[in-house]
Amino acid sequence: MEDLESLWNRLVAHERQTSLLTSIVSILSWDERTGLPPRGAEWRAEQLAYLAGQVHQRRTSTELGDLLERLRESELAADPHSDRGATIARLKHDYDKERKLPQRLVEELSRAEVLGQQAWVEARAARDFARFRPSLETNLRLRREQADATGYESNRYDALLDSYEPGETTENVRRALSDLRAALLPLLARVRDSGVPQDDSILHGDFPVDAQRRIGRRAAEAIGFDFERGRLDETDHPFCTEAGPHDHRILTRYDAGGFAQAFYGTLHEAGHGIYEQGLRSAFYGLPPGAFVSLGLHESQSRLWENLVGRSRSFWEFLYGEVRQAFPAALGAIGLDSFWRAVNVVRPSLIRVEADELTYNLHIIARFELEEALVRGDLPVDELPAAWNAKYAEYLGIVPPHDGVGVLQDVHWSAALFGYFPTYALGNLYAGHWFEAAQRDLGDLDAMFRVGDFVPLRRWLNEHLHRHGRCYLPPELLQRVCGQSLSSRPLIAYLNAKLDRLLDRS
Ligand code: ZN
Repeated sequence: MEDLESLWNRLVAHERQTSLLTSIVSILSWDERTGLPPRGAEWRAEQLAYLAGQVHQRRTSTELGDLLERLRESELAADPHSDRGATIARLKHDYDKERKLPQRLVEELSRAEVLGQQAWVEARAARDFARFRPSLETNLRLRREQADATGYESNRYDALLDSYEPGETTENVRRALSDLRAALLPLLARVRDSGVPQDDSILHGDFPVDAQRRIGRRAAEAIGFDFERGRLDETDHPFCTEAGPHDHRILTRYDAGGFAQAFYGTLHEAGHGIYEQGLRSAFYGLPPGAFVSLGLHESQSRLWENLVGRSRSFWEFLYGEVRQAFPAALGAIGLDSFWRAVNVVRPSLIRVEADELTYNLHIIARFELEEALVRGDLPVDELPAAWNAKYAEYLGIVPPHDGVGVLQDVHWSAALFGYFPTYALGNLYAGHWFEAAQRDLGDLDAMFRVGDFVPLRRWLNEHLHRHGRCYLPPELLQRVCGQSLSSRPLIAYLNAKLDRLLDRS
């Protein structure tokens, strides 16, 4: 009879080999999005498909299944929050889920994702939802099948949500987001009724890209992104990826005619990177060294981007340098005007360009629509009209055409249902973490003012990052804040900020 220690070692070795493959996939994907010559795409697709097959085989292998089955009942699994217990519990969860998917469905889904995205690109360019409709119907059908194969308790959407936000339920998300919506609409009205102009025109002008690169790197470094273990590059679609325990890569996009996009994009991705760099590298490739959910990931990017990066104290620290870097655009602009410009609140059509406050309304609309689609309560035909009605109700604007309406995001074309709410959950979580950090650390503004972000980053390392997947997000929230998910901290933060922004006395 093999002893527990050697079973455990075999499990670790198995997962370590899988992580060698997945990190090779990451580096190939990174290269694909940064420097691949156009004619290299076809071979790259073959490389990636080959590796994806290898990874899938390892994750569903009977060897892994046997190991997990034997360890599951052992004393190593007794505490599901310990490093070993969580490893066994989370891997077992992943394994069972992956094994329940018929190979046919996996292949159909991967084909549908590619075809769906092609159809979406064409439909969006033609501003014609009808061209995308058949793909959307296929994607929905396949994800419903997936949910039925993996199983769920009361709501099919729960099974999809589990891929991105384990531990969360549709019911709980619906409650949190409808509370959030109810609290945001009066805030939006408050901005509108104040008569304070929402003008960010000073952020558009002459912003040489070289200086933007320098300032972006400076800010990422200041908040704690470690360039010994990471790098910053350029791409069309900003993201963050990791290719090893000490190799974290963030990507951003520059626009010589504007400051905000690249700067906040960089801070956002650096926030994701800081989370990844805060995971315990000794557990790389195992649940204790992996991120726990997309919502938690997003809470880290949003916290640095918004709660820190749009604070007055942050700009008291950095504005002098930024002003010097862009004398033509900002030479005559004072700190107060600049801070107001990066905090403009103004309903707009496009999610990725939305401000900190209205962004959530874009997400809530998408969540409500996709949940109704998955449930079967909203026929695909009626989606564009339903979309426009939500925008009219929540944001007071109606898209002039579907290209800037229902067709604006890639997610549904790639069959990503259950993904959208994680963006808003990230904002809610960020509100909770920031409130708790303030309680523990005292006057964060005084630290930001002098460019000291170390205490906040260490706090996040200690309370969130180092746990990896040992606690699910709702459990972390209980541990750290003694609360369950609520819009209260985020709304209190937004209210306090508006008090200052709208005060012209
Ligand atoms: Zn993000």
